[in-house]
Amino acid sequence: MTLMVKGLVRRYRGNPRPTLDGLSFDLPEGTLTALLGRSGAGKSTLLRCVMGLEPFEAGTLHVDGVVVRGTEECAPHERRAALAAARERLGLVFQSYELFPHLTVLENCVLAPVQVKRQPRAVAERRARELLVQLGLEARLEAWPEQLSGGQKQRVAIARALAMEPRVLLYDEPTSALDPSMKHEVVQVLKAVDARGVTQVVVTHDLQLAKAVEHVCVLDHGVVIESGAPGQVLASPAHESTRALLAAWQA
Ligand code: ADP
Repeated sequence: MTLMVKGLVRRYRGNPRPTLDGLSFDLPEGTLTALLGRSGAGKSTLLRCVMGLEPFEAGTLHVDGVVVRGTEECAPHERRAALAAARERLGLVFQSYELFPHLTVLENCVLAPVQVKRQPRAVAERRARELLVQLGLEARLEAWPEQLSGGQKQRVAIARALAMEPRVLLYDEPTSALDPSMKHEVVQVLKAVDARGVTQVVVTHDLQLAKAVEHVCVLDHGVVIESGAPGQVLASPAHESTRALLAAWQA
């Protein structure tokens, strides 16, 4: 399993119940999974906890063999080391892409492999070119982010994340900032990344995208209430909250 979450608990002070309430799931290597759930279900909190952007109190996170335990369950130095190792195996594509505006498309993808991974520049540049060509950006290598369309910015953000060779790539609502006509393109890009064997997790409110993935997990009140193939979960949901979510999306 490349990504496994067991009994994750995240409590915010002042909230009567945990935002993540013993949440568990496991994703086989190389799957493309959509995380669904009504607003407030805990999806963003889960993304932040997996990425190490905020702590979780209990439970374990397994990322490609690295185990990160909750703050109540292990010593801070142990946790820091595990988080750093997990972080090397994870990538996140932000909703707003967060490209460096003062760097060209190519340089956006070269910077971290050179500075963080200490790759020789020529190697990092060759890999970045390969990724950008694969994602259909061969004509935009020397462009500045402000010259790109939303869909192109997103593909650069994905190429930049892939340049760090993550085992797991997470996306925060990848279609929400795009024109509806671009949605098909996003699905194609996710499938191209899927073919590289990277495990992908996509937080989305987009039914079209959810229908196109291999696996869906539905969250509510900080737990997974159902999961499976979209053809099964979305066509005949077992849980009332999933039915309500689908009804709201289709309205
Ligand atoms: P989703 O992404 O599914 O919409 P979130 O993970 O953003 O849900 O939030 C789930 C719940 O967690 C919110 O309704 C809120 O009660 C709580 N929450 C999230 N972030 C914070 C925070 N920084 N401080 C306090 N409560 C928070």
